[in-house]
Amino acid sequence: MSTVTAYAAPAAKAPLERTTIERRAVGENDVQIDITFVGICHSDIHQVREGWGKAIFPMVPGHEIAGVVREVGPGVTKFKVGDRVGVGCMVDSCRVCDNCKAGLEQYCADGPVWTYNAVGKDGQPTYGGYSQKVVVDENYVVRIPDGLSLDVAAPLLCAGITTYSPLRRWNAGPGSKVAVVGLGGLGHLGVKIAHALGAEVTVLSQSLRKKGDGLRLGADQYRATSDPKTFEELAGRFDIILCTVSAPLDFAAYVSLLRTDGTMVNLGLPEEPVQIVLQSLFGNRRSMSSSGIGGIAETQEMLDFCAEHGVAAEIELIRADEINDAYERVLASDVRYRFVIDTATL
Ligand SMILES: [Zn+2]
Ligand SMILES: [Zn+2]
Repeated sequence: MSTVTAYAAPAAKAPLERTTIERRAVGENDVQIDITFVGICHSDIHQVREGWGKAIFPMVPGHEIAGVVREVGPGVTKFKVGDRVGVGCMVDSCRVCDNCKAGLEQYCADGPVWTYNAVGKDGQPTYGGYSQKVVVDENYVVRIPDGLSLDVAAPLLCAGITTYSPLRRWNAGPGSKVAVVGLGGLGHLGVKIAHALGAEVTVLSQSLRKKGDGLRLGADQYRATSDPKTFEELAGRFDIILCTVSAPLDFAAYVSLLRTDGTMVNLGLPEEPVQIVLQSLFGNRRSMSSSGIGGIAETQEMLDFCAEHGVAAEIELIRADEINDAYERVLASDVRYRFVIDTATL
C-alpha cells in the first residue's frame, strides 16, 4: 500500500478538500502511474452532488487521467516504467461476458468497475484521478502517443472517447453531415473529431456567442437554436446529431433535422425522464439513441487517431485549490473548454 495526496469530497455536495488515500500495492498485472494531469468532467460534479443517485464518500473524482508509469508488476507485458499512459472511466470489468470479449467493456454484463465512486474487485472503494498516483490493471490502461501533450490529452480519456465512439459507430466521414448540439467539454471535441473524420460539421448552440471558436475548431456552420429559421432551413439535413447537452430539449424539433435513417445520439443525460413524440421518428425511419464512452481498444484507437490528426482538448489548466471554483464555472458553462488539474499542485 502507499499513501498519496488527493482531493476528495467528504460528503455529498460538500466542497472538495485536500486529504490522503491509500493505493493498493502493485499486483502481478498492475501498473502504478504518477498522475500528472486530470480533467474535470461534468459527471464528476453530478456524482459529488449525488445527482445520479447514492454515492460513496469520501469521493475522489477524476476519470480523465494522464500520467507516467512509475512501477509495473511482474506479469505486466504492455507497459514499462516511463511510458506515457492514460486511464479513463473504468479500471476493470468481468472480462468474460459477450460485451467484454467484443471489446465493449463499458457495457460489461456485470457492469464495469468505474474509476471512482465504485467498489473494486478487492472490495475497496475506487478513487479517481484527483490524486498523485493510481494503481490499475494493465488491461485498463492506454498509451498516450508521443504526439499528444499529457495536459491536453487528459480530457480525451472521457470526453474524447464519448464523442469518438458514436461518430465511428454511425459512420461519420466524408460525405456525411454531423450536427453537434452544444459547444462545451464534449461538444468541442465532437466538432474536432467529426471534422478530422472528414464529415461536414454544424454546431447547434443556443446563441452565436461561441461562433468564432466553433468555426476555428473545425465547424463548417454554426447556427443558433434560439432562431426558428435554423430548424426550418436545416430540416432533414443531418445523418447524425450528437447531442451533448443534458438539459431537456424539444426532441421532436431536433429529430426533424435528421434525414432518412439518421440518428440522434444523446450523450448528455438529463436527470429526469424525457418525452419524445414517436411520429417524429416514424416518417423517416429515424432513430434516437445513446452511447457510453468506448471500450479499451477503441479508446486506444481514438488516442492514436487524435495524435495523427492533431486533435486535442482546449483546456484551462488550474491548481488543485481552484477545483471548487472550477465546478461552479462548469455549472455556469464558463469554461473553454475543459478544466485540467495540474496534479503537481495537489
Ligand atoms: Zn467523464
Ligand atoms: Zn464483462
